[in-house]
Amino acid sequence: MTITNEDQQQIQIPGHKHLRHKSLLQSDALYQYILETSVYPREHESLKELRELTEKHPWNLLATPPDEGQLLRMLLKVINAKNTMEIGVYTGYSLLSTALALPSDGKILAMDISREYYELGLPVIEKAGVAHKIDFREGPALPLLDQLIKDEKNKGSFDFIFVDADKDNYLNYHNRVIELVKIGGMIAYDNTLWNGSVAAPSDAPLLDYIKYYRDFVIELNQALALDSRVEICQLPVGDGITLCRRII
Ligand code: SAH
Ligand code: CA
Repeated sequence: MTITNEDQQQIQIPGHKHLRHKSLLQSDALYQYILETSVYPREHESLKELRELTEKHPWNLLATPPDEGQLLRMLLKVINAKNTMEIGVYTGYSLLSTALALPSDGKILAMDISREYYELGLPVIEKAGVAHKIDFREGPALPLLDQLIKDEKNKGSFDFIFVDADKDNYLNYHNRVIELVKIGGMIAYDNTLWNGSVAAPSDAPLLDYIKYYRDFVIELNQALALDSRVEICQLPVGDGITLCRRII
């Protein structure tokens, strides 16, 4: 399932004629207030540069919004994360947020099927002086995860894993990353409210790509709620982010 140009234009419209962001907040003014009061003044100049560069790219709505980037940085610091993973990089806003929050010997194993998107943002990441923390792997994440699991030393070795790629694979990712994250470590699933569609009536008119992935996101949310290996916290930040803390 791919996002068409038409979807990309329309995604800004349903129910929110002038909505130019994908926040789930009903009020554009309130979202702008949050950004202008608390987020932009604290946004690293490289993140700002990367955000502005990404805004010119046709798939810019895929990018992690800056308030969510701020949440990631706070979480990573609170849990003292050092060894992390990211599935779904795009131009790297969440990746750079992570790289900036980690200590200088911190590591991010980053995966994406597109090196081209990653390389768009890479000069900014390099300029920020944090590229040495990143080990980028081009390719579909699932076989890469299977490869990692084969090596016992990778199991339970990650402090934090951010999952933000193809939503129809989230449960497949979950069953693998749960073994790779340490007990007490955190997995964060992005877009778990899927443009609000998870709560829409089943016959609601939805864009094709929203409709296609909705059932996978609903299935993930239900599975996480029942999964006794993790404690969970569903936040309505960005497009919804579910934090899972591995407990067994
Ligand atoms: N975290 C990013 C946004 C990621 S968008 C940010 O902050 O901007 C989703 C990304 O997942 C896209 O770049 C897409 O190329 C990638 N992707 C899609 N399917 C994938 C797969 N099977 N394995 C790895 N990456 C995938
Ligand atoms: Ca996302």
